[in-house]
Amino acid sequence: MNYKFCPKCAGKLEEKANHEGVIHPTCSKCGFVFYQNSKPTASPVILNDKDEVLLVKRAIEPHFGKWDLPGGFLENGEELIVGLKREAREELGVEIEPLGIISIFVDKYGYAKGDFFTFNVFVKSRLKSSKIKLDSENSDFGWFAKENVPWGDLAFANTTIALKTLYNLPGGREILG
Ligand SMILES: [Zn+2]
Repeated sequence: MNYKFCPKCAGKLEEKANHEGVIHPTCSKCGFVFYQNSKPTASPVILNDKDEVLLVKRAIEPHFGKWDLPGGFLENGEELIVGLKREAREELGVEIEPLGIISIFVDKYGYAKGDFFTFNVFVKSRLKSSKIKLDSENSDFGWFAKENVPWGDLAFANTTIALKTLYNLPGGREILG
């Protein structure tokens, strides 16, 4: 996303190279360097006893009506697992048990006002409580076996990559690969 003014003093931001030659928006008035990073997200990849994965149908933009993994942005200073459990509680009304990291990679998040990068962490998880109660972000949920994943109807590119990683399909992204 492009910012024009300094968040500290409202001076004009300029593209300026630091001592390492890396360019950051820098305030022309107070010298504040506006570092920008990919925003971290946490997504529980919840599997049941039949190894089916839980997907939710988005009721919000972007990708309204597409199937997605539950999850969302971490709050400032929030630990990964705390945010992961919070998202499961908010979106699904359930408690989860995290089992291990499936994949971590960067994606681009697009919406009407601009684009920014996301740093996506996918954590294999299991339900501790079984009654799912959706919030307003999603209109439906379903359990999908590997052969029934709605590949053509998934929300973000990262949803597809995460599920391919989970099922060891070409196009997945291993953490160290
Ligand atoms: Zn400034």
